[in-house]
Amino acid sequence: MAWVKFLRKPSGNLGKAYQAGSLLSLAPTVGLLNEPGQNSCFLNSAVQVLWQLDIFRRSLRALTGHICQGDACIFCALKTIFAQFQHSREKALPSDNIRHALAESFKDEQRFQLGLMDDAAECFHCKR
Ligand SMILES: [Zn+2]
Repeated sequence: MAWVKFLRKPSGNLGKAYQAGSLLSLAPTVGLLNEPGQNSCFLNSAVQVLWQLDIFRRSLRALTGHICQGDACIFCALKTIFAQFQHSREKALPSDNIRHALAESFKDEQRFQLGLMDDAAECFHCKR
């Protein structure tokens, strides 16, 4: 394929050619909505980082079996939003499902509750 040859060129002008949504960008860029009062920027940024990690995106897509937590299932919510990223023609999507799943999952600890700000890095921690 032509773009593979391009990448192998020692002095290839990759920086100039790389643009979101181009052939070299494997993950389409879709934003996540953060309406006033939602304070979901910490979660949205974490989800966007995970989406842009090719190995994570592909691995998540390949996983099928899990112990579903229903309304608190972050796995299902993440799979849903990734499918939306893949297929939606919208420029930005709501992150309500994963926000609710996160809040429900950490209800006992009173962390990541709806409308409250939190730390993006904390989203990556596993619940014990
Ligand atoms: Zn599930």
